[in-house]
Amino acid sequence: MTRMLIVGPAGSGKGTQSKRISEDLGIVAISTGDIFRVNIKEQTELGREAQGYVDAGDLVPDSVTNRMVEDRLTWEDAKNGFLLDGYPRNRTQVAALDEMLSRLDVSLDVVLELTADREELIMRLKKRAEIEGREDDADEGAIRRRLEIFDSETAPMIAEYDARGLVRRVDGLGPMDEVNARIMEALKS
Ligand code: ADP
Repeated sequence: MTRMLIVGPAGSGKGTQSKRISEDLGIVAISTGDIFRVNIKEQTELGREAQGYVDAGDLVPDSVTNRMVEDRLTWEDAKNGFLLDGYPRNRTQVAALDEMLSRLDVSLDVVLELTADREELIMRLKKRAEIEGREDDADEGAIRRRLEIFDSETAPMIAEYDARGLVRRVDGLGPMDEVNARIMEALKS
């Protein structure tokens, strides 16, 4: 059983690799971005609350996001391990996750960090905008904002997990299969 996070900037391939890892390890992948997008599409209360932030590339307020994850982690399918994709994204969320996990009496095994350089990220996001039609990928301001938040809030958060000895860093450049093979290798060690 594995409890893990996948972290990395927008466009680093977290979503794609999460699906593969989830299948390979038999654990549920929980993507906060996907949950927000589904709720926005269905115009639920949560969706209406999140929409403005997601469109602008800003973080949805921690209180909203934390509550949503706390609920999701109590579902039956998360009892046998999970992969969190896109959460936590700042230190406040780390503290909230620490509390949730301690209440559930479990702990994290590994934090997988996917890296890629800025130019490659921007290129991938523009391509994804054409294929998937995500508005936050089609908008240059929203792309810039997401990458800024990664640098100012998420990178320091990863450093915190690194200090705990949990981080395995994997190069996200190259074909999907190759990246997946690197991840599987990194998870073994
Ligand atoms: P990306 O990694 O490409 O930015 P995601 O699907 O992970 O894409 O996230 C899309 C958007 O959803 C974010 O820009 C943000 O608005 C919102 N979001 C996702 N996860 C979180 C989180 N942990 N905290 C706050 N907002 C979040």
